[in-house]
Amino acid sequence: MNRQALARVAGPPAPPARPGAAAPRGRLEWPLLRAWLREDGWIGADDAERVAARFRAGPSSLHALVRLGGAGLVRLGAGAGSGRVLDTEALTEWLAGRCKLPYLRIDPLRVDVGRVADVMSVQYAELRRALPVSVTPAEVVVATAEPLDTEWVAEIEAHTRRPVRLVVANPEDLRRYTTEFYALARSVRAAQKSGEVSGSASFEQLVELGRTNKALDANDQGVVQVVDWLWQYAFDQRASDIHLEPRRDMGAIRFRIDGVLHTVYQVPLAVMNAMTSRIKLLGRMDVVEKRRPLDGRIKTRRPEGADGSAGGEVEMRLSTLPTAFGEKLVMRIFDPEATVKGLEALGFGEHEGALWRQLIARPHGIILVTGPTGSGKTTTLYATLKSLAREEVNVCTIEDPIEMIEPAFNQTQVQTAIDMGFAEGLRALMRQDPDIIMVGEIRDLATAEMAIQAALTGHLVFSTLHTNDAVGAVTRLADLGVPPYLIAATVIGVLAQRLARTLCPACKARDDGLSRDTLDDAVRPWRLSGGVRPYKAVGCLECRHTGYRGRAGLYELLTLSPAARQAIHPGLDSEALRRQAVKDGLRPLRLGGVMKVAAGLTTLEEVLRNTPSPEMAG
Ligand SMILES: [Zn+2]
Repeated sequence: MNRQALARVAGPPAPPARPGAAAPRGRLEWPLLRAWLREDGWIGADDAERVAARFRAGPSSLHALVRLGGAGLVRLGAGAGSGRVLDTEALTEWLAGRCKLPYLRIDPLRVDVGRVADVMSVQYAELRRALPVSVTPAEVVVATAEPLDTEWVAEIEAHTRRPVRLVVANPEDLRRYTTEFYALARSVRAAQKSGEVSGSASFEQLVELGRTNKALDANDQGVVQVVDWLWQYAFDQRASDIHLEPRRDMGAIRFRIDGVLHTVYQVPLAVMNAMTSRIKLLGRMDVVEKRRPLDGRIKTRRPEGADGSAGGEVEMRLSTLPTAFGEKLVMRIFDPEATVKGLEALGFGEHEGALWRQLIARPHGIILVTGPTGSGKTTTLYATLKSLAREEVNVCTIEDPIEMIEPAFNQTQVQTAIDMGFAEGLRALMRQDPDIIMVGEIRDLATAEMAIQAALTGHLVFSTLHTNDAVGAVTRLADLGVPPYLIAATVIGVLAQRLARTLCPACKARDDGLSRDTLDDAVRPWRLSGGVRPYKAVGCLECRHTGYRGRAGLYELLTLSPAARQAIHPGLDSEALRRQAVKDGLRPLRLGGVMKVAAGLTTLEEVLRNTPSPEMAG
């Protein structure tokens, strides 16, 4: 746990951890908690009586907080928090305040599992209902669900030679994370131990054993578990990419969540090597080859969530790259729902959505999607093709690589090893009687010419380009060497897009400091119309304290009207084209973004970071 996480520990900073001699000691019992709740005016006499009648029947192995949390109590009173359902979490927070200790909701990704497992054994943790969550040179922070049972603290202080600071956490979280953290720490240790015995080369031998279906030994099982844990956590945290990065002393594991990387765990290099070997094996990659970049693919199954969320197939694309300290592995996780996403899920505004639907209903022509890597171009194209794919049309793609398999399309992958690039693939595909074609990317004149030929012979062609904005795509095609008259004859629309993080609905707050003038300034020379109701990022457990959860597309759509085509001539005047496009209804990316700010969906910082300024675009 780092500084950031400590800052989230609510309540006053570390008061004396041990209650005085007169205070009650030992395990929490429901009668005491009931009396305290009554004393604090949180429950009434009738509730207290109801609880007693229910619990008196017999003892329970459940923690007193969990038992009370299931009793359906509601906080009395008129002040803030009244009417709140007193579930286990709410009661934990209350109890922390009652004991004058900070309350902590454990964030598993912020806990350095390897280090905290050294503080106490799993048996000790389970017995004391306590779990170390952070170890620094200055202190050990231990989460407990038994704030009155603190006799063990002196033992741990002696063992770690550091002061112990207690925080109070939900007993259910403690139980779950104690099991998980210690299982994980054991797996890492087992993997590390076998690495120390015979050097990292031995992992290849272990993995080879797996290949011949012989039984794996216990040490290898450690690696298997660490990899399973890694994927499970990545899915739970909605990560889009997992990075395994060998560094000088340690291996760093990082997740990309909503476009931002978070370091989640550090493992010894030998363990990381073993993890990489296992993942490569599962991805049918050459495990021995470490000097060349490789790629592969894994299909795995996401287990059903504890909250009842459905399991499903998850596809991951793997790529390795030799770096100074070893082989770096990146796994890109493809959301199985990405292909079945409907157009309406892309986050088009009403204006762009209607124009896009008209555009893709045209029988032939070229439609381009532009934006930097990771701006969601493929997601847009898949959703669009999916909306067009019907029994009576042949939808073909040539991609590098195929990101998601969609049964409604005929998908082909570029294979540079046998000289089948986009242009060659497209040529072959034209003999396959296609109606709608998607070319992964137009990178060269040969591909551009094939795409134009396809459009001229009555096909609808989709592709992508790397340009800053929509008008830039027309310029780029001309730069590649496509004659302007052919651009004008075939390109019917260009969609420029970006992704912006959207505010976490659970914690966002009204931003009264952001005025309409500021928003108008951001989109000058444009002006906003309609109401302005901006929100700001706050941060809660739901959004990993970033204030954002999920991302939405920002779009700029250029449709080429007859008048706009006039601007596409040998002396291509991109300014004139832009002016005409605006007359035809183009709204720049930033304007679309700021409209989402005004609607309270994202923030101005997020939009400014992700979009070019309107007057500079072009
Ligand atoms: Zn939040």
